[in-house]
Amino acid sequence: MRGAVQDSGALMRMILIGPAGAGKGTQAQNLVTRYGFPHISSGDMLREAVREGTELGKAADGFMKRGALVPDEVVIGMILERISRADCAKGFMLDGFPRTRPQAEALDQALTAAGVHLDVVLHIDVPDAALIERITGRRTDPLTGTIYHLKFKPPPPEVFSRLQHRDDDTEAAVRIRIEKYHRDTTQCIPFYAERGLLKTVDGVGTPDEVLMRVTAALQTAGAAH
Ligand code: AMP
Repeated sequence: MRGAVQDSGALMRMILIGPAGAGKGTQAQNLVTRYGFPHISSGDMLREAVREGTELGKAADGFMKRGALVPDEVVIGMILERISRADCAKGFMLDGFPRTRPQAEALDQALTAAGVHLDVVLHIDVPDAALIERITGRRTDPLTGTIYHLKFKPPPPEVFSRLQHRDDDTEAAVRIRIEKYHRDTTQCIPFYAERGLLKTVDGVGTPDEVLMRVTAALQTAGAAH
């Protein structure tokens, strides 16, 4: 990998896995507040690249609008470069990556080459039926990054006019994203289970209920301090 991930008394290196709408973003916000590590969301990085019109963004744009996966070589290079930066030396949380088995293998090789390892892979499990309603009602406040839901977590009226609805949060794109998740991303689950890193939590319930399960799972992984 370009640059090494340094092991200087690592705090925690973790991965969040779950389908679109599982609550990864919401739980990620909670965990970042608690542990202070960088939250590395491949989807956020790609959206920013698209907004800025970079080469990476141009390569990713069409795939993202359709709800398709961006090719492995594009995403792997982006993430390995990101986790080689200094702010990741004491840990990181990957959200949305890896999404395919080759991505999981590339990450594994890069970390091994850098002499570091993952501490835990947190899998948030939510049945498909609940996902579509969650996603199509989702709105983000671009100023604070807060994620709302029109029904389950209504935004305060004063932020309403600036809320954003992601291009790929339509029902058609969501169905494709869920199908891709079952086809590709679930292949990462046995990869991490075989390595003893996988913790699965039930993602059905309020964000606070899920956070309690997440915290308990991290404690049993020995990753909560
Ligand atoms: P997300 O915000 O994680 O739901 O990602 C939004 C979109 O970005 C996905 O539907 C894909 O098009 C693309 N994307 C994000 N992460 C990855 C990844 N690890 N591999 C391939 N495509 C990705």
